[in-house]
Amino acid sequence: TTTTTRTSLSEFQSSYPPIQIPCTDLYSFIFGQLSRCSSNVPALIDAATDEQVSYSELHARINRLAAGLSAHWGIKKGNVVAIYAPNTIDFVISVYAIVRLGATVTTANAAYTSKELVYQLRDANAVAILTVPSALNVARESALSAGISTSRIAVMGSRASSDAPHIRDLMVDLEPPKIVFTLDELAQHPAFLCYSSGTTGRSKGVILTHRNITANVAQNAAVKVTDYTQCRVWSAILPFYHVYGLVSIMAVALYQRCTLVIMEKFEFKAFLEMVQKYKVQGLQVAPPIVVQILNNPLAKQYDLSSIKAMHSAAAPLSKDIEDAVSERFGLPIKQGFGMTESGPSSHSNPNHKIKSGSIGILYPNMEAKIIHVETGQTVPIGEEGEMCLRGPNIMKGYLNNAEATRNTIDSEGWLHTGDIARADTEGYFYIVDRLKELIKYKGFQVPPAELEGILLTHPMVLDAAVIPRNDARAGEVPRAYIVLRPESCVSETEIREFVDGKVSGHKKLRGGVRFIPAIPKSPSGKILRRVLRDMDKREMAKL
Ligand code: AMP
Repeated sequence: TTTTTRTSLSEFQSSYPPIQIPCTDLYSFIFGQLSRCSSNVPALIDAATDEQVSYSELHARINRLAAGLSAHWGIKKGNVVAIYAPNTIDFVISVYAIVRLGATVTTANAAYTSKELVYQLRDANAVAILTVPSALNVARESALSAGISTSRIAVMGSRASSDAPHIRDLMVDLEPPKIVFTLDELAQHPAFLCYSSGTTGRSKGVILTHRNITANVAQNAAVKVTDYTQCRVWSAILPFYHVYGLVSIMAVALYQRCTLVIMEKFEFKAFLEMVQKYKVQGLQVAPPIVVQILNNPLAKQYDLSSIKAMHSAAAPLSKDIEDAVSERFGLPIKQGFGMTESGPSSHSNPNHKIKSGSIGILYPNMEAKIIHVETGQTVPIGEEGEMCLRGPNIMKGYLNNAEATRNTIDSEGWLHTGDIARADTEGYFYIVDRLKELIKYKGFQVPPAELEGILLTHPMVLDAAVIPRNDARAGEVPRAYIVLRPESCVSETEIREFVDGKVSGHKKLRGGVRFIPAIPKSPSGKILRRVLRDMDKREMAKL
């Protein structure tokens, strides 16, 4: 029969038993029961220096830094502190020292230019910056523009000579102030302010409350995304400044008392050496790294037999690659799905049944539906539509942006992901396209609106639109379509250099620049990105 009954609609509740989400703040949740395992287990290892920090030492340093940030800088509940740095042991200490004080962490991409950093510092109303010596100049310049006292900048990581205090100099042997959260505050107060452009526009501060993060860590642990009973040593090669590194790797591993081997900057050979040397068991990666593991001949020269679980998220991973990796390692790679706005993880393949090409099933305590992009009606199972999510991990909203929040989380609490998906009858989801304008370069966000804004400041540019172009290595690269002012004379290369000089590496116009007579727009003035994407596909097909 062709009749669609309610049960054959794409509406799902998690098939996992519901879990209890502890009513506690993030710091107490992660470090509250340190006696749960031997505190001498290494919590963190820096792969470059071999420095190791046990759980008891980590705990002690977090408390000493929290006391120091309070005593020297007066950091307290309600303050936002920015961390602008690559992965280091000190990054972890800093995150938990800040939340220990009831303050909020905002993480900024370590490659940000001053302009990009200033935007975030101002938007988040940050009062202090923790960075690394190599980024100190940009941090100082940005602090000045954002109205942050440069005396509230400290460096982390290597002791390379710098005239700013090191966080170790700030640490004091005092008990940090005791912070109490009411139940209401746990659900309102941001532990993390991560930046995401969401479905449209520029980056926005995503309010991830203590409850959002404790929920998502508990959900991850319940699902055993990376089964911590088997995998005690995890790699931390994805950046902590992205929510995937900050929550799904850092917080989840610490909660489960695993050992995190940290890499400051991803470099393939060093990564292989790290896996071999520290016998890494749990690997959390993004698709470009999976592709390298599969195709780079270097991978065959190393003993990677310690790996027991591989997990990929942040961007699409094709079924073909998943199957090839499984064959090569005799081990399935599990794909999951996350987004900053959902704190981040919502789906993963369960250990008992992995379907390649699928992002898996819903996390505990979550609901999902797939809706028709025009009518908003739930579509029948198997049909494509926009994936919507609901659950305790969904962000509170965007900082100081009620309109963007309203456009993303509807009155019934559904987060509209901007991703096009379909689901099968067993509740496995497949991402098939992206409705939102976001571009993902190697899993990193590139908001087209930001690049369009920069292009429009060029004196010869009348109008501009930026779209993703598919790329085998990076997933997607940004490509610009430009309408020039009459009688202007500028080359595509000049336009590209104009933008590339103003943005961090992942936002560069690697997909090229094309001049066109007019940007296709809807009657209401919205850029018809789909038309441009189709135009580009036709052009690619001719190559
Ligand atoms: P972010 O907020 O930077 O984590 O980006 C979230 C977006 O990344 C999602 O809305 C998707 O568009 C994309 N994404 C994450 N995981 C996957 C996946 N497994 N497959 C396809 N797209 C993904």
